[in-house]
Amino acid sequence: MPETIFSKIINGEIPADIVYEDELCIAFRDVNPQAPVHILLIPRHPLAKLADAGPSDQALLGHLMLKAGDIARDQGIGDAFRLVVNNGAGASQTVFHLHLHILGGRAFAWPPG
Ligand code: AMP
Repeated sequence: MPETIFSKIINGEIPADIVYEDELCIAFRDVNPQAPVHILLIPRHPLAKLADAGPSDQALLGHLMLKAGDIARDQGIGDAFRLVVNNGAGASQTVFHLHLHILGGRAFAWPPG
């Protein structure tokens, strides 16, 4: 997978405001937050987008979902938050390293834009 801004964060080549990390994933604040709390949760394993995941990624994807809930709780938004995964350019994905947006601290409309 080509290098991305997120792989540079994983490698420590560029700084990020990291709020959580373990052996499988890193979470850091989005530089252009769309809500009072806007965290990006990414796997260390290079996976360009969710649709590229396969059966061998099942445990990793489950880990990310569980950690998203833990991080939301740690950030004080455990009762109301939104998870977003933009998959592909047509869905507004701009960084091609899988990431979960964890958003909270304001009301959210439905359907999403
Ligand atoms: P997406 O459009 O789903 O691919 O989301 C990419 C997100 O990465 C956007 O919300 C950007 O604001 C965010 N972003 C880009 N560069 C950085 C960076 N260096 N540190 C933190 N967030 C970033």
